[in-house]
Amino acid sequence: MIKYVDEYRDGEVARHIAKRIATDVRPERTYRFMEFCGGHTHAIFRYGLSDLLPPAIRLIHGPGCPVCVLPIGRVDGAIALSKQAIVATYADMMRVPGSNAMSLFRARAEGADVRMVYSATDALQIARENPEKEVVFFAIGFETTTPPTALAIRQAKIENLSNFSVYCNHVLTPPALRGILDSGAELDGVIGPSHVSAVIGIGPYDFVSEKYGKPIVISGFEPLDVMQSILMLVEQVNSGRAEVENEYSRAVEGNGNARAQMLMEEVFELRDAFEWRGLGWMERSARKISAGYSEYDAEIRFGLITSSASDHKACECGEILRGIKSPKDCKVFGKACTPENPLGSCMVSSEGACAAYYSYGRYK
Ligand code: SF4
Repeated sequence: MIKYVDEYRDGEVARHIAKRIATDVRPERTYRFMEFCGGHTHAIFRYGLSDLLPPAIRLIHGPGCPVCVLPIGRVDGAIALSKQAIVATYADMMRVPGSNAMSLFRARAEGADVRMVYSATDALQIARENPEKEVVFFAIGFETTTPPTALAIRQAKIENLSNFSVYCNHVLTPPALRGILDSGAELDGVIGPSHVSAVIGIGPYDFVSEKYGKPIVISGFEPLDVMQSILMLVEQVNSGRAEVENEYSRAVEGNGNARAQMLMEEVFELRDAFEWRGLGWMERSARKISAGYSEYDAEIRFGLITSSASDHKACECGEILRGIKSPKDCKVFGKACTPENPLGSCMVSSEGACAAYYSYGRYK
């Protein structure tokens, strides 16, 4: 039984797993595995896992970075809201460029009241402390960050906090995975989400094996988790299996977190369709605030209409999020686009593929 996080980073064990992978891979083929989450991309680059793997293993970055997948139109929406209210959001969202090189950070420099928070609860506190002002929480994220936003909305209702609302941009993992598989991406397996799966469980991934015939292994974010998951995927491919397996059993249970799921059901409902950067419009792929809590919906309160907008013309984030291109294919990577001066969302968040390539220098 491993007790401490360092043990999930043991180089000796990683090399041992790498040897097993190298022994198992068949020389005549490649194994194309998509790591869905930016957290996995980050672990792969930070710990140099690609250097341990045989050339037969090809890792493809997926769309699992909530900052990266938000389209420019929704960033523009938050900037528009900052002209009417205090906007509270996570640090990364302040730096994502919207249209015309505008960002929430720049809006703040021009006088808007934009505040960085660590959680939806922090935004709630800002609303309590500023009863004479409107406070909007710019909420983003997959199923991991959705329950805390639901809790904040429910708490606002309990306290009858009338100056608090949420600009809801919470998205769902399974439709994104389906979108990738429908797009014809050439994959032999998927390294599946870890924290998301702790909330939604394992069942929602059955379609990956049943409909698309691909194996998926739910994987933790530590380097040994990722290495072990790759080994499990190789073993599935070699034996012709396509199953949902759980490497991250220390945190993920089959049915996930029932209380978190009930909370999300109560406070949110599915949107008919939602636009994703790179993946386009996808049906029932995002949440909005349910009718029972609609007074906390910033889009309704401020009559916000979101329009689509194009990415910077040099930016390849869309192709990178679909697993078609890699950051080094982008002509402005590391030149005009750096973490200090990001042109696209994939360079902003530490979970973004471009930021991971840049930060750990492995593209060199
Ligand atoms: S390097 Fe910058 S411009 Fe190029 S794809 Fe990445 S985020 Fe977009």
